[in-house]
Amino acid sequence: MIRLVRGFHDILPDETPKWAFILETARRTLELFGYREIVPPIMERTELFQRGIGELTDIVEKEMYTFEDRGGDSLSLRPEATAGILRSVAEHSLLHRDSVLKLYCVGPMFRRERPSKGRFRQFFQIDAEVLGDVSPLADAETIAAAHAIMSNLGATGLMMEINSVGCNVCRGEYRGLLRAFFEKYLDELCPDCQRRYHGNPLRILDCKVERCSEIARSAPVITDHLDRPCLEHFQAVQEALTLLGIPYRIVPQMVRGLDYYTRTAFEIVHEELGRSKAVGGGGRYDYLLKELGGPDASGIGFAIGLERLAMGLPDEDPRFTRSTDVYVAALGESARNEGFRIVNTIRSAGISAETRYSGSSLKAQMKVADKLGARFVVMIGDDELSRQEVTVRNMSTKEQVRIGMDRVVSFLQSLS
Ligand code: AMP
Repeated sequence: MIRLVRGFHDILPDETPKWAFILETARRTLELFGYREIVPPIMERTELFQRGIGELTDIVEKEMYTFEDRGGDSLSLRPEATAGILRSVAEHSLLHRDSVLKLYCVGPMFRRERPSKGRFRQFFQIDAEVLGDVSPLADAETIAAAHAIMSNLGATGLMMEINSVGCNVCRGEYRGLLRAFFEKYLDELCPDCQRRYHGNPLRILDCKVERCSEIARSAPVITDHLDRPCLEHFQAVQEALTLLGIPYRIVPQMVRGLDYYTRTAFEIVHEELGRSKAVGGGGRYDYLLKELGGPDASGIGFAIGLERLAMGLPDEDPRFTRSTDVYVAALGESARNEGFRIVNTIRSAGISAETRYSGSSLKAQMKVADKLGARFVVMIGDDELSRQEVTVRNMSTKEQVRIGMDRVVSFLQSLS
């Protein structure tokens, strides 16, 4: 048997109703907020991610699925959606038509991380982006959209964590302060962080290695070093969240794994799983679109991981339990064709119906009907056939009635 690629996973038929429910809810919520769907490809030129995500990020340094195609181009499977969406916006000049664009996309992302519970190499994200709006109200609205998806799904135990990572000006100064702080501990940092120290010391704050995070806990925090415009922006975001009644917590150490964020950064965290297994995250990016060849417009967005979202919802729930309305049990050779015809007539009327062609006994077919969760069983045996009738059994009350064959659909419709 040929098995799955490590870190990849199948979404099996028992799980897909829950996925469909999550996707429908997310789509409906985002469209309520004015987002429109965009479907970029899952593969882009490697350079897009190098420029968009940052050369010194874990994603670009060690997690991308990159290969040379037969034409000699370096291509990569997308590790996140923002860069591809912005490439598309720039390439098709979408911001020339609207001054503010709200886009969302759903699909698989690929990162060659170490697989563990809730961490895969192919995972699905719901990604939403607002382009062309600099107001802190747009930040709060974006956080509200992520929050609304969660609450419309009925997800519990989640918390919004927010921070400001400053802008190019104040972050430059803060970076200097961090370097001065970490210099004393350089020998104790992990090899990755020793590299980060030179390239981008903010990354050290994100390190999962015990000693590094222990040291990072007493490092200076960015919120103490924001310049006035960034500080005012951050305060305005907080006030707007309070106005909307969205609970949040400020986490000054949160810098997020991608380089492009400016000012607001946020994560949706499960109280039990913690930040290393966040359900979603996002932030503002004021320079990225220009960097990728688009207009000088700011953006803010978030991505929610579907696998982690699904993990937090029950497996069984009436909101996404699927069952068949009707099972048609034909008994005997001659009834088989009539059963075949009736099951299709019922389906044409928009009522879900199933049957089996194996010709097994009534008892065996009733078992199948039970397993499918059928609410009604339509039975046709020799006797029914000779009178052009069927017997309809209500599976919960066990009541049975005989009706004319030509009345099956109207009878079933009257019951539902
Ligand atoms: P990021 O794009 O890193 O900000 O991640 C946003 C969300 O995507 C996370 O909060 C997770 O829910 C999900 N996610 C990121 N990486 C993975 C992964 N390797 N496996 C499963 N979900 C992931």
